[in-house]
Amino acid sequence: MGRALIVVDVQVDFCEGGALGVTGGNAVAERVAALLAGDHGYRKVVATRDHHVDPGTHFSDEPDYVDTWPPHCVVGTPGQELHPALRGVAFDAVFDKGSYAAAYSGFEGTDDGVGLARWLGEQGITDVDVCGIATDYCVRATAVDAAREGFDTRVLSGLVAAVHPDGVADVVTALREERVDWVE
Ligand SMILES: [Zn+2]
Repeated sequence: MGRALIVVDVQVDFCEGGALGVTGGNAVAERVAALLAGDHGYRKVVATRDHHVDPGTHFSDEPDYVDTWPPHCVVGTPGQELHPALRGVAFDAVFDKGSYAAAYSGFEGTDDGVGLARWLGEQGITDVDVCGIATDYCVRATAVDAAREGFDTRVLSGLVAAVHPDGVADVVTALREERVDWVE
């Protein structure tokens, strides 16, 4: 068994003070950094990043925070960078997604032209843990795709933050229906 950690979109714009700041984002960044500073046991650790150039209707001047959002994670801006707490982490790969359209799942991203599913498979990964931001969007989409790609998948409930905290119980139910475990 080879288990990888997927750190989803822990970027400046998704943390407090960012263009689309999620409450608890900074704490997630700090806790993920602390996990990775220790003897974590993951065979591979990868990150995903929202990486927008011109994502069309994903951006809006009047966002509904469901399907449309204020501009965020624009390539070349500080908000697109990983959170400062993670800048010392030597990720094995970083998968960028969403250049010209919304992309919630890290499995839509690529690193050097290689997609996440293929990359994990080539590394002998069979199991993944997913953490990051936001629970109800990119973490959810990434975890569902991981399970559908055949990886034994868990979401680490202590290392995520939600846009809509009131909806997390429904997210957990939906994840379990996709055979994604929600664990401490
Ligand atoms: Zn986005």
